[in-house]
Amino acid sequence: MANLGIAKNTIEIIQKYGFAFQKRFGQNFLVDTHVLERIIRAAGLTKEDMVLEIGPGIGTMTQYLAENAGRVVAVEIDSNLIPILKETLQAYDNVTVLNEDILKVDIRALAEEYNGGRPIKVVANLPYYITTPIIMGLFESQVPIDNITVMVQKEVAERMQAGPGTKDYGALSLAVQYYAEPYIVANVPPNCFIPRPGVGSAVIRLTRHQEMPVKVKDEKLMFSLIRASFNQRRKTLQNGLSNSAELSFSKEEISAAIQALGLSPTVRGEALTLEQFAGLADALGEKTDGTQER
Ligand code: SAM
Repeated sequence: MANLGIAKNTIEIIQKYGFAFQKRFGQNFLVDTHVLERIIRAAGLTKEDMVLEIGPGIGTMTQYLAENAGRVVAVEIDSNLIPILKETLQAYDNVTVLNEDILKVDIRALAEEYNGGRPIKVVANLPYYITTPIIMGLFESQVPIDNITVMVQKEVAERMQAGPGTKDYGALSLAVQYYAEPYIVANVPPNCFIPRPGVGSAVIRLTRHQEMPVKVKDEKLMFSLIRASFNQRRKTLQNGLSNSAELSFSKEEISAAIQALGLSPTVRGEALTLEQFAGLADALGEKTDGTQER
């Protein structure tokens, strides 16, 4: 089968099937062999690995994955792509294509069925409209995962990797870094795709922590505090937390917890590290069980 990482071959197959791109599914097909090779290298694939690919499209990256991994399970929502995938992947007996919505798939069950519950790798050129739910879903549903290597919008990759005190730092940085170590592998310009997206892209690898980087008694409370602090970015941490509809701590309780951590009463949420948010959650969690339904 011709290498679909070459634009001419992608155009040929699209024309052969009269395929119409669907904007609502975030369809931008990758046509750059160097970028494809870098993604495969960054994921560190071996023949022992099971890879979950989200949105195989016409099977461009799937071909590379099939060559380098032991088994590939590819989940594609668009049924118009299924006959195309049959043709483009016919040479491989280690690929399973499922015509489903990834947000409705029980990925833990897939890992169990295809990999005996051992950690899987996730590789994808993601549909950008659902980047965050896909990634947070993978982490929060406790799917056994080694690493996730994905193409995302450039700004989103930068937010995932950002540290305290920078303009990109926010709830997404903390959520991702709680579960994984982010590393931006490459920036990818729009001309590497058909059709060209209106934004720049980047490949980011998220390597799952073997051990959580912070210990926190109540994870949910910590994430409620994080959300509340960044919802009102320009407010002090103390005001952000007291004004939050999600929390019901008194001003005094909040102020005491901030002080107990050795932080200034006027500190802003964006200055706090993950460790400090964990400390804050532990301090407030001890004071009262006075949080509302979270
Ligand atoms: N992997 C291909 C490539 O690199 O050329 C296609 C990538 S394209 C950016 C995103 C793919 O995800 C499309 O094929 C699209 O149909 C598929 N997709 C969109 N939403 C999806 C969903 N909820 N579940 C599964 N696949 C989805």
